[in-house]
Amino acid sequence: MANVIEEAKSGRASCRTCKKTIAKGELRLGVEQMTQFSDTPSMQWHHLLCAAGKLPGELKGALAGYEGDVPNRADIDKAMTDSIKSGKAKPGAFPYIDKAPTGRAKCMQCDETIEKDSWRVAVERELEVNGFMRKSPGYMHPKCVAPNLENVGGTMEDLVSQVKTNSLIDEADMDAVVEEMTGEGGGDGGE
Ligand SMILES: [Zn+2]
Ligand SMILES: [Zn+2]
Repeated sequence: MANVIEEAKSGRASCRTCKKTIAKGELRLGVEQMTQFSDTPSMQWHHLLCAAGKLPGELKGALAGYEGDVPNRADIDKAMTDSIKSGKAKPGAFPYIDKAPTGRAKCMQCDETIEKDSWRVAVERELEVNGFMRKSPGYMHPKCVAPNLENVGGTMEDLVSQVKTNSLIDEADMDAVVEEMTGEGGGDGGE
């Protein structure tokens, strides 16, 4: 799912969160949504400030990829942080790190259960199901990521920078989990 930030090309679209019109030229977040009525995803638009409260995960990822200026960035960041702290927000894209909500998922690498409330790394992988390739989420213990990296695709560096963009956890937790993933102590190097 691609989430984008762009200037509204017309003043006709309305915000899916507050239902009010998004003015022409105003920045908006577009979230690709599959609907049951069509095979192609359609874009749903939100004011950035509305998205900050309702879709902080999607907005966070889109902001990371947006190079222009965001006029009310401080307000948006604050609304995003508040919403993330409330604990109801979901990450907007894979891969990400969160706490296992249940103790049911098994680790892709070691096949052991991931304990409830322990950190896990969620990735999207392609699985063959009845001859069709399907995308489905997979979960790993942080320390199981390195030995399984070839199945995840990409380098550890890429993965770390992606989870940093997508995850909705605070920095200290992130550093601790990343340390477990990379097996590096000390906190030197990296970003
Ligand atoms: Zn709105
Ligand atoms: Zn494991």
